[in-house]
Order: sequence, then structure tokens, then C-alpha cells
Amino acid sequence: MSRSSAQFRVALTFDAEHPDRPNDGAGARLILDALAQADAPATFFLQGRWAEANPDLCRRMVRDGHLVGSHSHYHVRMPLLTDAGLATDVRAAESVIRRIARVDPRPWFRLPFASGATHARLIARLADLGYRHVGWHVEVKEWRARETARSVADRIVSRAAVHGDGAIVLLHTWPDPVSRALPSVLERLAADGAQMVRLDQLDLSADLSPIGEPQPAAAEISA
Ligand SMILES: [Zn+2]
Repeated sequence: MSRSSAQFRVALTFDAEHPDRPNDGAGARLILDALAQADAPATFFLQGRWAEANPDLCRRMVRDGHLVGSHSHYHVRMPLLTDAGLATDVRAAESVIRRIARVDPRPWFRLPFASGATHARLIARLADLGYRHVGWHVEVKEWRARETARSVADRIVSRAAVHGDGAIVLLHTWPDPVSRALPSVLERLAADGAQMVRLDQLDLSADLSPIGEPQPAAAEISA
């Protein structure tokens, strides 16, 4: 069945963080260029330390109409922190994002590596701080060294279509294939009838922490 007649919503989400390998840093700017070209809104989860290092890009995200959330300050596995440590990290990121991007990231939060997404105590502490973790339905592991723009684009488009309306897609700003795949992704999704939306345009009340797959081993996940 062709999807061309049925509109469905897709929320592209980008974790903006310091990469753990050499990187030229151009990814976020090229992603913003591609989104602007297609007039497509998206959501960016900012690591506080990344925001400090990239203030102009953060301001442009807001200026371009994208939703901004928090991806913690130090990008550690949050279950390793005490309650006080968690609050310190979350507030540090919030303070930086408010100062630099001049927006309040609450309630949008993405746990680094999705670590702790199923820990009731941690999710409750996050809620005390005004946040909810948002997982994803579609991940393509675009940070793997062997991936190409073509392989990444194909997987995003096909998996978003399989999920259907409300698909939340996890991406990162730094892997090279992402910005090169994005123009094709946006064009193909639009041809399939998809409307690109921010997370605050979806009703997530019944689906607080969607996670598309069982949590993979530490070595296989990068969020
Ligand atoms: Zn991350």
C-alpha cells in the first residue's frame, strides 16, 4: 500500500554532544542548513558542555524554530550518580542552556545512552527537577564507522514508515553520514506523506519513554 495518501508525523531528534572520536564539528551546522532548506522543524537535546562550546549553533537552533531539550551536562551514565549528583548535573546543563540558547529546556530530557530510562527512582528524580526522558522508536546507529549517507538514509526512511504516525527518530549531530543523509531523508519522507514535527507537537502522554528496542550492550549504544 502506498503511503502517499496518508499523512504521518515524524519527529527527528538530534543529540548534540561532544563526540568520543575525532570530528570536524561541522555536523550540527550542516544539519541546520538541511532542515532550513526543507523548512522542517526538529528537536535538539543539548549536552551542557557542548552548548558552552557552540553558542552560535545553539542560538541558531532556537532562531530556526527547533525545540531544545537537555542531554545532561557531562554526558555520564546517570544511574552512577547520587541524587545530589544527578541534580547538580541536570541543573548545570539547564543553567548553560538558558544562558546561551535563552530557552528553558524543561521538560525535555534525553538520558545519555538511555541509561536509567527504566529506573523508576531515577525517572522520579528527573521529574522532581522538571524533566521527562524521551526515548525513541527508530535508531539507525549512524555513528558506526562503516555507515554511509545512503545506508543511514535508507534505514531512517524505512523504519519511520514501518513505525508510522508519531515516529521518534534518534540521531546525533556529529557522525558524518547524518548531515549528508538528511536532504535525501527529508525529501523521501515528504514524498511518503510524512510531516516533520517537534516533540512538543506529538501527544506523548501515553508513551512517556518510548524505546524502540531492548537496551543494547554498552558497546553497541551511543545516545
Ligand atoms: Zn548522547
